[in-house]
Amino acid sequence: MKVFKFGGASVKDASAVRNVSGILSLFEGEKLTVIVSAMGKTTNKLEEIVNASQKRDRKIFMAHVDDLYSFHMNIMGELFTEKHFAVYNKVEEIFEKLRDRFNDPFPDNYSFEYDQIVSLGEVLSSHIVAAFLFEQGHSVAWADARKLIRTNHQYQEGNVDWIKTEELIQSRFIPEFERTDIQLTQGFLGHTDEGFTTTLGREGSDYTAGIFAYCANAESVTIWKDVPGMLNADPKWFDNTIKLDSISFKEAIELAYYGASVIHPKTIKPLQNKGIPLYVKSFIDPKADGTVIQSSGEHDHLVPSFIFKMDQVLFSFTTKDFSFIVEENLSDIFDRLARVNAKINLMQNSALDFSILLDRSKVNIQKIIDLFSDSYAVKYNEGLELVTIRHYDQATLDRVTENKDILLQQKSRQTARLIMKDRG
Ligand code: ASP
Repeated sequence: MKVFKFGGASVKDASAVRNVSGILSLFEGEKLTVIVSAMGKTTNKLEEIVNASQKRDRKIFMAHVDDLYSFHMNIMGELFTEKHFAVYNKVEEIFEKLRDRFNDPFPDNYSFEYDQIVSLGEVLSSHIVAAFLFEQGHSVAWADARKLIRTNHQYQEGNVDWIKTEELIQSRFIPEFERTDIQLTQGFLGHTDEGFTTTLGREGSDYTAGIFAYCANAESVTIWKDVPGMLNADPKWFDNTIKLDSISFKEAIELAYYGASVIHPKTIKPLQNKGIPLYVKSFIDPKADGTVIQSSGEHDHLVPSFIFKMDQVLFSFTTKDFSFIVEENLSDIFDRLARVNAKINLMQNSALDFSILLDRSKVNIQKIIDLFSDSYAVKYNEGLELVTIRHYDQATLDRVTENKDILLQQKSRQTARLIMKDRG
């Protein structure tokens, strides 16, 4: 069995859904687990719906729900010629339940309510896509990931119970392949032991593909995207990008860690653990090779990769009493940073200074200054960019540092990281 994942962009409108059907036709007769995300930007819209509900703003809540309803109805109108199809009843029922939720008081646990509402995006898309595939003559059955993936009670970021999930997938999911070639299910969703819906974190559908593949011992996973594969840089920041044909699991995790956003970082571990290859392929050009991520690292060094993080702020903390930065103050510094939930992109220390780099959009500079000013002198520098180069050489370093001042750099044998500012 192969696992395919189609993200929001690959089911964003009727022609995208038709394209999915076309891709599946290329695999006629094979056993496939197909995982779909919510259509287009539905998840963002559902987040706004949760927020309107929390604010008890019925008008905004209903307006957003109506928008989402029209969006899905329009897609269905283009996909299905007959209005009597059972999928219409399903979709109506889901929207009715969604509207009804406003009538109950907003619960204390925001994340719980978030998951009950935001999960509906994947439920809607999976019903619509499954119904269309059925209409197109595919051998397909709809499966409910909310009954297969077991998580703990950490709503919005469910932690998978691997043993229970494997048991559920082996006993309830695998046997269904005797009756159907394709099982279509939702990305991003799970359930608690009492049966409440959980979600796995934004962009979590890739992870769902990894979970199904691991628990079902799949032959491979393919993530279908609007890019030809994994590129060696984000084309937004870089000209002449190169597709990586083959990289190792380790390299993929390193790239994801430094900020390459092609695959959800949690996806790799279950696949690496069972040696299941992961393909990233284009849904526009499905016969092209794409990228394969697998165990062997023999191609890793062939192409340097660049990861850019823009709009960074560099803080440095200097002890006021001239004491060295040692284990004691390090734990004090981390303790303070944890209080503001700071996500550190890079850090470095000297005898008296400790420096950290953060995303400007995620920090309140004054708050950081206030937090440290009793024991440390705080300095900061804004408008910076961080570039990480895997498998760098002098030519790549020269290329990225042209017209830049370098404020700080770290190099290991494989990786160079530079904090830079435009030369003024
Ligand atoms: N629909 C969810 C999101 O947009 C999950 C996913 O698509 O991966 O975050």
